[in-house]
Amino acid sequence: MTVAMLADRLSGVSEEVNPESVSLCPLGTAAAPEQELLCIFGTGDFGRSLGQRLLQTGYRVVYGSRRPHSCGPLPQGAQVMSHEAAAQSASLVFLCIHREHYDFLEMLAPHLKGKVLVDVSNNLKKNLYPEANAAYLQRLIPGAHVVKAFNTLSAWSLQNGPSDAHRQVYLCGNSAEAKQTVAEKATKLGFTVLDRGSLSAARELEDFPLQLFPEWRLPLLLAIVLTAFFFIYVVMRDIVYSYVEKGKDTSFRIMVSMANKVFPIVSLIMLSLCYLPGIVAAFVQLYRGTKYKRFPDWLDRWMLCRKQLGLMALAFASLHVLYTLIIPIRYYVRYKIGESTISRIKENRTSSFDSTTAWRSDSYYSMGILGFGLYVLLGISSLPSVSNALSWREFNFIQSKLGYLTLFFCTFHTYLYGWNRFLYSYSYKWYTPPGFMLSLVVPTVVIVLKLLLLLPCVDRSLTRIRQGWERSDPAEDSKKSLLA
Ligand code: NAP
Repeated sequence: MTVAMLADRLSGVSEEVNPESVSLCPLGTAAAPEQELLCIFGTGDFGRSLGQRLLQTGYRVVYGSRRPHSCGPLPQGAQVMSHEAAAQSASLVFLCIHREHYDFLEMLAPHLKGKVLVDVSNNLKKNLYPEANAAYLQRLIPGAHVVKAFNTLSAWSLQNGPSDAHRQVYLCGNSAEAKQTVAEKATKLGFTVLDRGSLSAARELEDFPLQLFPEWRLPLLLAIVLTAFFFIYVVMRDIVYSYVEKGKDTSFRIMVSMANKVFPIVSLIMLSLCYLPGIVAAFVQLYRGTKYKRFPDWLDRWMLCRKQLGLMALAFASLHVLYTLIIPIRYYVRYKIGESTISRIKENRTSSFDSTTAWRSDSYYSMGILGFGLYVLLGISSLPSVSNALSWREFNFIQSKLGYLTLFFCTFHTYLYGWNRFLYSYSYKWYTPPGFMLSLVVPTVVIVLKLLLLLPCVDRSLTRIRQGWERSDPAEDSKKSLLA
């Protein structure tokens, strides 16, 4: 074989060749060991992508197909045969067919005995079948060594090669040797292998690709519930109240004014909910006097979705900024300013400059701008490309120290917005407090609790606990639990 032919072969562009008869001879000198032949059942999307990658990596590939003579274009250099012939020619078979079609494999059981079968299949939804696909396959062909693997990759990602989001190949199986064989192939293809244990883990692996934004569910649900609740709340207080009590139709305010009341409320509550679980966890550790006991599941889950909570809060804050920017160009606002100016001129009225109001409004805007600026910084630093470039200390400084500062600025911004309105009875329409007052409850609690944790005596105990100190003797504890 010439060097040109060899280069063609390795790049997968050579003409179709007989895999049984070809051996690769680098530079025409010493004969290299013949490349291993791997079998793929199924010439569909996944089978083709996998075959192409295997060929590019240097393996030889033989396809087993129902229609070996009319199965369409395959990666160059691959062979195609009947299932039976293909199974006989290799010791490892990738099953790139849907589980619904596994039945025919039972007839091939004698040819598949002792071989490694790689099950790559997924299902359309969870718990569709009583047993995992891989377990079913093992039951159909008890003499084979079934390994569940590659199912968390897509045909597309296989074709494009390993990338950040698709670098891992999870695998499980009952035979350590078979798993080792599959792991070698995956590593050669450039993937990182994660062994999940025996075949009983197959269902878990099959459920992986069915997950849809699992960490986003809780923040999304919370955002929907909070938005719906506060939207109804402010519409009742501002629009329905005006209509019922004063006979005025102000429903046009729904589009901008009401939206611009709800978004900052939801944003502030969600931002404070990012920091609340950390504070709850600190108090739990102080109460238990150890960091070595697991947090309750709900707290674990809450802490795991803090990044998503923060990003959703940032999205709402951005909407608030956009809605605020358009206030001066609103017809209603321009009309009101014009009308008030004309009536002042008509009545020859003037008003004196109130420096307290100027201070208050400037501080209100300034706190809002600073809060939003830090909000954006928190969002940017949570991007993987940015957070990967930061040390743990730097990341912690931004997310924790600057995070609390953001919460403080945004809460102060809201207090300045309310100013002394809480003193006036007209603020409590139908005996309900304004929405912004409700939005201050959680952030205020978080800030007060955080200040408590910063008290030197509390901070010292918490730091010791986090460095491994325990209030009670663990040996005593285990004795007590044994006696109990
Ligand atoms: P596909 O494009 O529909 O291909 C399936 C192949 O199975 C067909 O091309 C056919 O090959 C064979 N087949 C169809 N009916 C059959 C039958 N009655 N008996 C025997 N063989 C039959 O499907 P795919 O997307 O490649 O998926 C194949 C497997 O990979 C599935 O289990 C899927 O869950 C899994 N998977 C796919 C992806 C993906 O991104 N596509 C990702 C992860 C896992 P022949 O005509 O050559 O026989």
